[in-house]
Amino acid sequence: MKMPSWQRAVVKVGSALIAPDDTGTSTKYLLAIARFIIECHERGQEVVLVSSGSAAAGRKHISYDSDKIPVTVKKAMAAVGQNDMMANWSRFFDFPCAQVLMTHGDLRDRARYVSIRNTLHTLLEHSVLPIVNENDALATDEMKVGDNDNLAAMVATLVDADALFICSDIDGLFDADPRVKPDAKKIPEVDTITEEIFALAGGTTNKIATGGMRTKIEAAEKATSHGIDTYIVNGRKGETFELLLQGENPGTLFKRQQDPMSNKKHWLRHTLISQGEIVVSEATAQALIKGAPLTTTGIVDVQGDFNRGDAVVIRHGESAEAIAKGICQYSSHELLHIKGQEASSIAEQYGYSPITEVIESNDLMILEDE
Ligand code: GLU
Repeated sequence: MKMPSWQRAVVKVGSALIAPDDTGTSTKYLLAIARFIIECHERGQEVVLVSSGSAAAGRKHISYDSDKIPVTVKKAMAAVGQNDMMANWSRFFDFPCAQVLMTHGDLRDRARYVSIRNTLHTLLEHSVLPIVNENDALATDEMKVGDNDNLAAMVATLVDADALFICSDIDGLFDADPRVKPDAKKIPEVDTITEEIFALAGGTTNKIATGGMRTKIEAAEKATSHGIDTYIVNGRKGETFELLLQGENPGTLFKRQQDPMSNKKHWLRHTLISQGEIVVSEATAQALIKGAPLTTTGIVDVQGDFNRGDAVVIRHGESAEAIAKGICQYSSHELLHIKGQEASSIAEQYGYSPITEVIESNDLMILEDE
């Protein structure tokens, strides 16, 4: 019997498995998943659970007579249903479960990112099962991840997992929509995620869940680029978890890339949202690609309104493609005044010596590099 090769995994379970009917939480599909997590625990393999279902569970307590649920009502449902979702899971385990709620806003902030990371590591060290969900009750549009597939990929990189299992209500990724084409074939392995792979994804048909196949492929793209094997499996079938325990692939495996990006670069590329743009000269673009930091002299233009410490993308004047992304040491307002100038002339004008590096090499990620 083959043994699974991973040591730490994130298991993502969607609303369709937690609250399959419109009657609140159910144990129907969770028993097999819980048994899988318990077996992993006994073998010394660590699991972080990312669980949806708070809003779906909350429908039992807050009824709403339409499929178009307003955001405020959905948030209230999530707040009340989060309790039920946690209770539904914890009844299966003899070890403790910890509730960890986060938003994209938390993951964008380097200090909070590190804090969540430390908490999750500490929970794992103490054999506690972290159960993560988005903090839906307070997340606004600008600060939410929006779907738990992408959240699970972010959590997988946070905890340096080596596998991500996305448990869905479908067997994996198919070469056509199996609901429409009964002869559609499951794709067992994906080496590289291309546009053609994304084109195979349809939207969600679930009334309350946010994600669909597209968000699952996005999650796989994030996780595999960080060196994490990602599986989409059918969480409705008990045999899925027996196969996973034997190291078999019951669904679609998106293979991890050989050259994973460092944590920080990954965070920079996939988690930080760019707040503006810096346009640079051709020579500066070439220097950046070779690893130089960005200094004031090569800056031709500044667009958008950003603060010190915000992420910005860098473009070369004539090309529409962003060539790099980085964390800027200056605000857009400051940069507009000092762009294109030598440090000595800035010092003369403003009476202070500026930090010469607008973006340090360490905080800069070349997008063509991947
Ligand atoms: N955070 C949402 C919930 O617990 C789930 C988001 C999703 O369906 O991906 O209801």
